[in-house]
Amino acid sequence: MIQKIRLIGDKVLRKKAEPISPDNPKTKQVVQDLLDTLAVNEEFALAAPQIGHSCRIFVINPIWIEDEDKRTPMVFINPELLEYEGEQFMLEGCLSIPEIYEKVKRAQIVKFRSQDLHGKWKNYTIRELFARAAQHENDHLDGILFVDRISPIRRKLLHGKLKKMASTTKDGVNVG
Ligand SMILES: [Zn+2]
Repeated sequence: MIQKIRLIGDKVLRKKAEPISPDNPKTKQVVQDLLDTLAVNEEFALAAPQIGHSCRIFVINPIWIEDEDKRTPMVFINPELLEYEGEQFMLEGCLSIPEIYEKVKRAQIVKFRSQDLHGKWKNYTIRELFARAAQHENDHLDGILFVDRISPIRRKLLHGKLKKMASTTKDGVNVG
């Protein structure tokens, strides 16, 4: 089912999410909700806390595959980022922080492992956009938002805007 996107100021976005067993019936439901919600939004990746579930799952639609018919959203359960290499510096946005785009430094190449819905662990070496998405989404599982990773000057400039955004969110709390 399509779920409401949680916005900055919502406490669930600041919690460290718990691992979840792929056998747990909740896992299937959260994955389906993530895929349904991703399909109607313009971003290409989504993490469970963004739809209100504090568990370690995210999904990524591989937009770097040119043929849209060949894109199947990928599901990552209990991902563990293991190694980082190089750097990339690009504009990022987030469905939970509407209309804000800022440059964020990320690793260029990431090695990580993750479980699928059958509980099988798989190893990945990913780069560029895929690596950036995995780092952004994995941050969501740790309660980190991309605005935490921008330069202190930019963060200071955005502070008032983010605070205002958070104060209009239901149970909005501090940002900054
Ligand atoms: Zn995000």
